[in-house]
Amino acid sequence: MRNIGRLLPMSDAPEEVIEGGAVRVHDGAIAWVGLDRDLPPGADAHELDAEGRVVGPGFVDPHTHLVWAGSRREEFVTRLAGESYDGGGIATTVAATRAASDDTLFAFAAERGRRMIANGTTTIEIKTGYGLTPEHELRCLDVIARLGSELPWNVEATYLGAHVIPDGRDRSEYVDEVVATVSQAAVRGARWVDVFCDEGIFTLEETRRILRAAREAGLGTRLHAEEIAHTGAADLAAQFGCASADHLEHVSAEGARAMAASGVVGVLLPTVTLSLRTFAFGQYPVLRDAGVTLALSTDCNPGTSWCESMPYVVQLACLVYGMPVHEALWAATRGGAAALQRSDVGRIAVGARADLLVLDTEHEADLVAHLGAPATAATIVGGRVWTPPSGSTVAS
Ligand SMILES: [Zn+2]
Repeated sequence: MRNIGRLLPMSDAPEEVIEGGAVRVHDGAIAWVGLDRDLPPGADAHELDAEGRVVGPGFVDPHTHLVWAGSRREEFVTRLAGESYDGGGIATTVAATRAASDDTLFAFAAERGRRMIANGTTTIEIKTGYGLTPEHELRCLDVIARLGSELPWNVEATYLGAHVIPDGRDRSEYVDEVVATVSQAAVRGARWVDVFCDEGIFTLEETRRILRAAREAGLGTRLHAEEIAHTGAADLAAQFGCASADHLEHVSAEGARAMAASGVVGVLLPTVTLSLRTFAFGQYPVLRDAGVTLALSTDCNPGTSWCESMPYVVQLACLVYGMPVHEALWAATRGGAAALQRSDVGRIAVGARADLLVLDTEHEADLVAHLGAPATAATIVGGRVWTPPSGSTVAS
């Protein structure tokens, strides 16, 4: 790809820009990066002209709940009328998800996935968490595996049996069941285990048990932490060496320092705060000042963040947290890769996957300044320009 107006490599320096850049791709990986005028001639290379646009790595979205059926629009409307969120609406989605066939779950999630790829996402983490029985959780892992093989992106699967205690279940029996299911989740493709560790959801002690089981099964760990209240979940993530702690609206300075010391990535989900209308955006300076590596994510889910657009998340991060543009773009790419402990995505460097995002503008600041406009001119995954299939289903 030649004639790149501004190439954002997302190196260790978020603000690095190569003006007048070019990228060479071979076998799905980046083979050369530099100034267009220095590009060595390549025999029978297929050339793409970026026409002066901005090119960066594809977005890495490290926290989503993409596999669900049903709608939570009534809950959303109720919230607009002033009701608060306690995680209770998850039961609505669980009932609809259990009732849906594997093919239906796949079709809905794939439609969302295609919208995400169109918006520039090339690597995604997808959690279970709407099945909440071993049978339904494991079949959701199968759906996630199918999303990885049938869509041209990188998928990381997470077992989130500990999303909420299902209606009618005894707490300790349910936690026992989650613990017992972890090793089967590993066999069905999960790389990660996540727990919604928060006030009124799973306690620190319950979370510890589940994290220990994950470690024994050889799986990585991550937490939904400090979203509803300050519980010490960030400290727990640090003690366990979790890859990330996500949400963090109520993190303390002490918890943030513990995360930084243990290398736990902080995943910020501004669309959730917006959708819940809590307007609690104060965690950003706390985490930044503690030196926590930050990532941004959609948290795409039917209840608290129905969002398939990383550009929108980047806009919000800049506007509501006051993140500098390059820092937000870094968090949406390299930061997400760090949250998933991947070094092959989230940057443009020799050897990385050829996952590229062409922004439809000559300057990356426009991604934030131009509100509500489509941001992406093209998404390139594994060296191939992605074209959406024709035909589309009803919004789901
Ligand atoms: Zn979540």
